[in-house]
Amino acid sequence: MTTERTELKPERVQQTRTVERVVTGQATSDGAGVKLTRVLTQPLQRRLDPFLMLDAFRNENPDDYLAGFPNHPHRGFETITYMIAGRMRHRDSAGNEGLLENGGVQWMTAGRGVVHSEMPEQEGGLMEGFQLWLNLPASDKMREPWYRDFEAAAIPSLRTADGVDVRVIAGASHGVAGAVTRDATAPLYLDVHLPASVRFSQSLPSTHNAFLFVYRGDVSIAGKTLGERQMAILANDAAADGVVVEAGAQPARLLLIAGRPLDEPIAQYGPFVMNTQQEIQEALADYRDGRFGAQ
Ligand code: MN
Repeated sequence: MTTERTELKPERVQQTRTVERVVTGQATSDGAGVKLTRVLTQPLQRRLDPFLMLDAFRNENPDDYLAGFPNHPHRGFETITYMIAGRMRHRDSAGNEGLLENGGVQWMTAGRGVVHSEMPEQEGGLMEGFQLWLNLPASDKMREPWYRDFEAAAIPSLRTADGVDVRVIAGASHGVAGAVTRDATAPLYLDVHLPASVRFSQSLPSTHNAFLFVYRGDVSIAGKTLGERQMAILANDAAADGVVVEAGAQPARLLLIAGRPLDEPIAQYGPFVMNTQQEIQEALADYRDGRFGAQ
């Protein structure tokens, strides 16, 4: 679905946020040995509340992804998987199954608990994508699990007058509402494709924590240059009403992510994210005793 240009409401940003910090992701592996870059790491959870993690993976060698993510549990937050290239099969203990591929998004609310697997369904070629973890407010951590797959064509998109292509996974941009909205954290999740030397503006509530991850080319924000596979934490400045980002001499692609902080305690043990250690102990006991269900 592409909204006609005439229907767009241009984002007007009087003063852009600046870059507080540039972060280079850490190479790691997860699941049964999938190589990936952890961009948003645990020490940044408080600063980037309500976001808990961002992983980027881009592997051409099947040995780096074929083992996938066999059965594992989650409780207390949401996982948002965005596939740029490749195919991944999802199955979970709530009875959901889906195939995620080329531009598709899977939004899963773990709530009180799911056991799921995320396995590549290809034997060769490029596999590229991202997984973002969005925290749930304390009042929703034990809610029923929820799950939805969006094919690429079901993600609302727009093209600005300057030729910037935007896919609106969550929140809203230029008057186009995204695939998913959440009341507590009001998340914005955009995939922005910029032609060379072109600017893109996006309004942001000044109280939202916000960051940007460049996955092709380079961009500049308020005079600061950001290279490929770097993340910028955007400063929270009461006088700034959004962000203005400009591509370098080559076309650029980036994720722009923002949300309202929950400002609640964060207790994480691996795939469980709760508010207290006591709740983590309960999660471990419930998983051990099979109360997450079986796939
Ligand atoms: Mn998972």
